Amino acid sequence: RKFIFVTGGVMSGLGKGITAASTGRLLKNAGFDVTAVKIDPYLNVDAGTMNPFQHGEVYVLKDGGEVDLDLGNYERFLDVDMTFDHNITTGKTYKSVIEKERAGEYLGKTVQIIPHITDDIKRRVREAAEGNDVCIIEVGGTVGDIEGMPYLEALRQFAHEEDEDDILFTHVTLVPYSKNGEQKTKPTQHSVKELRSIGLQPDVLVGRCSDKLDIDTREKIALFCDVPTEAVFSNPDVDDIYHVPLMVEEEGLDEYVMERLDIADEALPEDER
Ligand code: ADP
Repeated sequence: RKFIFVTGGVMSGLGKGITAASTGRLLKNAGFDVTAVKIDPYLNVDAGTMNPFQHGEVYVLKDGGEVDLDLGNYERFLDVDMTFDHNITTGKTYKSVIEKERAGEYLGKTVQIIPHITDDIKRRVREAAEGNDVCIIEVGGTVGDIEGMPYLEALRQFAHEEDEDDILFTHVTLVPYSKNGEQKTKPTQHSVKELRSIGLQPDVLVGRCSDKLDIDTREKIALFCDVPTEAVFSNPDVDDIYHVPLMVEEEGLDEYVMERLDIADEALPEDER
């Protein structure tokens, strides 16, 4: 089973969810069974109690789970039904760990974020992925947020436990224009530095920009972030978010990801997708 983790840098609302869903759609088109997990690092157990003016509308799943809007994107892009287990929140993980502690299941141990919370996160990801070829896991928030730290640590451990070609890290960042019309890579460099400081090296970088990234920009990001130039993709502004899969397909994101995960041989030929 393959796992694709999607993190975001610089700021929220960049299109991390759309990038994750688009990657999933392309893999589905290539013939793989794909599912997704959304991680929300807030303490609410679910989105049902959150003010829609602050957080956007609550998305209700078939099993009654009240979850983040992103799960709706995944259901529509991937054409699958998700369950409540596909939304992991800090409230959920802490609640189950604390309930186990009260039930005496830790046999006198000191219950800690590492390993008990991180183990619970890894268990939830593995369970949600069951029965699929590929699971895409989007980590909400921005790298560097205190709330997100236990998740990034869990991902680091996850990558350590799985084979190298079963795991891929995608990092979505912002590439702004300067006043003189240059695409600036510094925010991307800083956010990748932050990611590396906690032991995670991205395999794929996606730059959200008003336009496609220039070749110079991609080369610069590749050099400073230590990935091949072919691993740097654009998520340019589009009028309709359902065009994003086509945009990233044009740049070869699907081919790159399949090669990297060693599943290109099993993919449907291009004219059958
Ligand atoms: P994040 O997960 O980074 O918070 P989302 O994927 O939820 O971001 O996207 C934030 C907003 O930006 C959404 O309203 C989404 O529809 C929009 N969006 C994402 N990608 C694009 C794009 N390429 N062009 C235009 N709008 C986009």
